[in-house]
Amino acid sequence: MTVKFYSGEKIPLEMHKVRIIQKLNLLPVEERLKAMKEAGFNTFLLQNKDVFLDMLTDSGVNAMSDRQQAAMLEADDSYAGSASFTRLEKTIQEIFRKKYFLPAHQGRACENILSTTFVRPGTYVPMNYHFTTTHAHITKNGGKVVEVFTDEALKLNSDHPFKGNIDIKKLINLIQEVGAENIPFVRMEAGTNLIGGQPFSLENLREVRKVCDEYGIKLVLDASLLQDNLYFIKQREDECQNMTIREITWQISDLCDIIYFSARKLGFARGGGIITDSEEDMRAMREYVTLYEGFLTYGGMSVREIEAIAIGLEETMDEEMINQGPLFIEYMTNELLKKGVPVVTPPGGLGCHINAMEFLPHVPQHEYPAGALAAAIYIASGVRGMERGTMSEARDENGVENLANMELVRLAVPRRVFTLSQIQYVIDRVSWLYENRHIIEGLKYVDEPKVLRFFVGKLDALSDWPERLVEKFRADFGDSL
Ligand SMILES: *Cc1c(COP(=O)(O)O)cnc(C)c1O
Repeated sequence: MTVKFYSGEKIPLEMHKVRIIQKLNLLPVEERLKAMKEAGFNTFLLQNKDVFLDMLTDSGVNAMSDRQQAAMLEADDSYAGSASFTRLEKTIQEIFRKKYFLPAHQGRACENILSTTFVRPGTYVPMNYHFTTTHAHITKNGGKVVEVFTDEALKLNSDHPFKGNIDIKKLINLIQEVGAENIPFVRMEAGTNLIGGQPFSLENLREVRKVCDEYGIKLVLDASLLQDNLYFIKQREDECQNMTIREITWQISDLCDIIYFSARKLGFARGGGIITDSEEDMRAMREYVTLYEGFLTYGGMSVREIEAIAIGLEETMDEEMINQGPLFIEYMTNELLKKGVPVVTPPGGLGCHINAMEFLPHVPQHEYPAGALAAAIYIASGVRGMERGTMSEARDENGVENLANMELVRLAVPRRVFTLSQIQYVIDRVSWLYENRHIIEGLKYVDEPKVLRFFVGKLDALSDWPERLVEKFRADFGDSL
């Protein structure tokens, strides 16, 4: 249940109060331009002191609760047999109804262990959508990622409630084509990260399970963004409306053989781990925990984080804790839509995604419309988003640009971090930018690394558009920051 306002306005209400704060710094627009130039028009290279609202990512930057902070003081630092680990293990056994928990330092470490254990050269891993680190680990072990998403998945504007579903027909076709023995597992990702935090339905997961049973294939859940998916299932799936978040979690968990997660997202802290009921699978994966991560009672995590995750997971079972992200994102998406700004719909978890191709139709893809828009958003507001488009792709072996399927700017909404007026500020500045979109032009690389160029590469504007944007800002906002 959400709180209704007498005025009828649909406004998300913070169901927590702020008790520790971090001072923010909003530079004047001229200095924001200077900082953006120094960062080579790459938001990854901005210094945090120059950023007003950091909407780069939701990873490891969600706000903790007072109970999490308190638990961190009690952490037990023993190398082996830490009481902190036992507390987390018990919480996980209760929430997921599975026996074994293997700790790891973050999500990609779980993917390393899973892929090293199960993926062999020449095998195929079907999934609803890939995540960057998942793809890298499966490929490194010689496997091939095959996405079996539905036709809705890539539609930027849709009213489909579950764009993260697996297309069952495509899944069966793939199994029949390559043979079940060549599929180490089917992977379902909760709250599909790269297509805008879109959920799968419980019904779909059940159908996937049925197929897995029929062909004797394991089902693996990437639960990193499970909290958002849980909320959407409860909101959007009829059969789940009267179920508690805990009951929905049990149902999901009962359908999966192995569950892994990044606690940088799930659990509001930093860490990760793998959960299973199978002793055989646990034993097969366990040796890689001690090899790559650490002893079995910490797995590369600080015991303080382990305590925080245990409480964070418990709090994830509270709808008023997990609805904050999706409600704020829904508000932001709907308000931007009202002003005509092209955004991905329906609103998902994780953040609000702006469609740069439609925002800047006059900027061709090889001039990085999403990169230019991310830079323009920072200049106009001090808000840092992330480019997800051609700038993040690699050129082919002949140096030709690999044009991305989508040109998106992701404005992540770390959970419980920002207040409504801060979100309104973002909406205000982005809509101003939309009205002045004709000023924004493209970018070009001036320092382009060969590998993962978007992290540290530097670019420059193709004209003096950033200066003209600052001039227009001054004309419209006067002496405002
Ligand atoms: C973030 C993320 C990961 C990787 O987790 P890290 O802790 O960053 O290594 C894996 N899968 C999904 C869906 C994610 O969102």
